[in-house]
Amino acid sequence: MGRKNNIIAIDGYSSCGKSTLAKALAKRLHYLYIDSGAMYRAVTLYFLRNGVSLDDEQEVNKALANIRIDFHATPEKTSIFLNGEDISDEIRQMHISDNVSEVSAIKAVRQSMVALQQEMGRSRDIVMDGRDIGTTVFPDANVKIFMTADPNVRAERRYLELKNKGEQITLEEVFENLAHRDYIDTTREESPLVRAHDAVILDNTELNEEEQLQFVLDRLP
Ligand code: C5P
Repeated sequence: MGRKNNIIAIDGYSSCGKSTLAKALAKRLHYLYIDSGAMYRAVTLYFLRNGVSLDDEQEVNKALANIRIDFHATPEKTSIFLNGEDISDEIRQMHISDNVSEVSAIKAVRQSMVALQQEMGRSRDIVMDGRDIGTTVFPDANVKIFMTADPNVRAERRYLELKNKGEQITLEEVFENLAHRDYIDTTREESPLVRAHDAVILDNTELNEEEQLQFVLDRLP
């Protein structure tokens, strides 16, 4: 039997504004927003804290068995918890961004997160953003968006965001990190970042938030 709940899948490169758009859609449509990237960041934080070596399959599997990830949503914001601890702020720091794509390329990590994501979308209306949502997690999503934007504009936006949070960082470091993550995300073996054949491309280099929101609303079935 077909799914009854609605799913909007938003994929694309790093720092394209996927989460801003996804949050706006969730608010407008009263859907639940799920940030799949935050889940990979949570796993990365756990691996770093516990010194898990990425090429040791047994260690990785043991670590995954010890990880519990929960989202707590309020009208103001959604927080992510790792084994009961609110890690929403820590996972945005550069030491996580610098390691997350290597962790996300591990097959066992992906299998575990994809299963969790599919469970979250089993019965509720959701907007989920990430890299493989329209291709692997929900290939039957009602609407699929593939976001892109000029790499310089993306780096500039993320740089300002991090600066505002007090992070000591240069624009070059941010640009390098985005390029590095895009490279690993698009070339990894396991569900690489690629546009689903039925995803609509949204280049937001020159679109404001309201225009992006309208772009997707116009495409809802
Ligand atoms: O979306 P965000 O930039 O926070 O994601 C962080 C990283 O998590 C990405 O660079 C990518 O390596 C990984 N990721 C993934 N699949 C997803 C979402 C994120 O591999 N669905």
